[in-house]
Amino acid sequence: MEDYRGKRVTVMGLGTFGGGIGAAMFFARRGAAVTVTDVRPPEKLKDSVAKLAGFPVRFVLGGHKMEDFTSADLVVASPAVKYNSPFLRAARLARVSVTHEMNILFEMCSDRPILGVTGSNGKSTTTTMMGEMVRAKHAGVLVGGNLGGSLLIAADESPDKSAPLVIELSSFQLFGLRRMRRSPNVAIITNITPNHLDWHGTFRAYAEAKRNILRFQKSEDTAILNGDDPLLRRWARKVPGRVALFSLREVPKAENAAFVRSGNLMVRWEGREFRVAGETDLKIPGRHNVANALAASLGAVAFGVDPWYASEVLTRFGGLPHRLEMVAKAPGNIRFFNDSIATTPESAICAMETFPPPITLIAGGSDKGVSFDGFAAVAVRRARRVILMGATADRLETALVRAASAAGCCPKILRAENLEQACAWAAEDAIEGETILLSPACASFDQFRNFEERGAAFRSLALRAVMAKFSAENAFR
Ligand code: ADP
Repeated sequence: MEDYRGKRVTVMGLGTFGGGIGAAMFFARRGAAVTVTDVRPPEKLKDSVAKLAGFPVRFVLGGHKMEDFTSADLVVASPAVKYNSPFLRAARLARVSVTHEMNILFEMCSDRPILGVTGSNGKSTTTTMMGEMVRAKHAGVLVGGNLGGSLLIAADESPDKSAPLVIELSSFQLFGLRRMRRSPNVAIITNITPNHLDWHGTFRAYAEAKRNILRFQKSEDTAILNGDDPLLRRWARKVPGRVALFSLREVPKAENAAFVRSGNLMVRWEGREFRVAGETDLKIPGRHNVANALAASLGAVAFGVDPWYASEVLTRFGGLPHRLEMVAKAPGNIRFFNDSIATTPESAICAMETFPPPITLIAGGSDKGVSFDGFAAVAVRRARRVILMGATADRLETALVRAASAAGCCPKILRAENLEQACAWAAEDAIEGETILLSPACASFDQFRNFEERGAAFRSLALRAVMAKFSAENAFR
């Protein structure tokens, strides 16, 4: 890699997820003069700033200064910064190179195997499962990327320089990666539905950014695509390397595929079939997680992992926090599930369709301006009760009332002051076998710092509500 000693490197976007911190550390360690700049004020970035304590880094927070871009030798921009940001445009005009943390990682790991995962939904779950499977073959595997943290620092510090990388890639990161002209050796696309259109401009631009995960594959590489997605089936005909489809329905004939047959998850590789799990063996609920499990197994087997290990991981993996995570259980098979990551109506729909009735849904949060009609149509069919909270409560209630009159059925609609009250009400009148589901369909910023904080609050409030109800009941026995 290049010698960065004495070079002026500007890291744009410190953020809170780890990428900005990683880039700053990486260049500071190499003797560069690092400036870290972010539009957010210092008090919002306290934790990230603290992680850089002891590193010779200059901070420009609460706004950017043009000269940090035009007089730098290199700008490392957060993937979320738009390509046409005036600061990046000025840097390019001044002939300053602009790069990203992920591009530097790809450059540093040019001779390591890379397994990449993208898609509109299911990236983190698929990446984590596949990472666990690959660990069985290569203990030093590094798993990360858009999942959080800095894979750049992990790779820089890891003693095993041949360890493979399993990376979750967002559409923003993939857009930036086009310059590297390298795609992962095993590339998975879980699905593609419109998302982040405010950033990419059009669905086509969004899909084309995602396609960079395949674009530069070599003939010996493998593309793993969702066979139930019409766009991805079309792409499957034009990949540079091998292709393998996964599907919730049987895939006949293909040499390489993963699919469900009579309730079993099957992987066919080079014509040989393996049963990796029964649908009911999976600990993570929902059909969408069957698709994720198929994709992860296929990716791992394509990389040479013994299907037995894939099977072992599938029957053990309990899911990631805040994604349909079971957080409390009460007598009468009453269970509380935390799906705080569901910040869109589509993901809340997916959650409601995962569980059998009776369901109490807790929803509402900050407003992204999206329509709740589709969500409401499913909620009135699936939920016994809907407890609303947060800034979108009015809009959600209007959509639910409209959907209920169209469908001729109406769940009980309650308005809670906050999550604490919602949990208490949910526990108080829960009935036998009920699933109490926090799947808000909205972002969390009206009441919480982020979805993690909302999910963590739900965990403890759900437990508290269960204890309050059942210790009171026991006291009367
Ligand atoms: P991502 O990393 O793409 O955001 P996650 O694995 O974190 O995806 O899952 C987030 C949420 O997306 C889940 O709680 C679920 O509601 C939904 N989801 C997960 N996998 C899928 C899938 N394959 N298809 C549709 N929705 C999914």
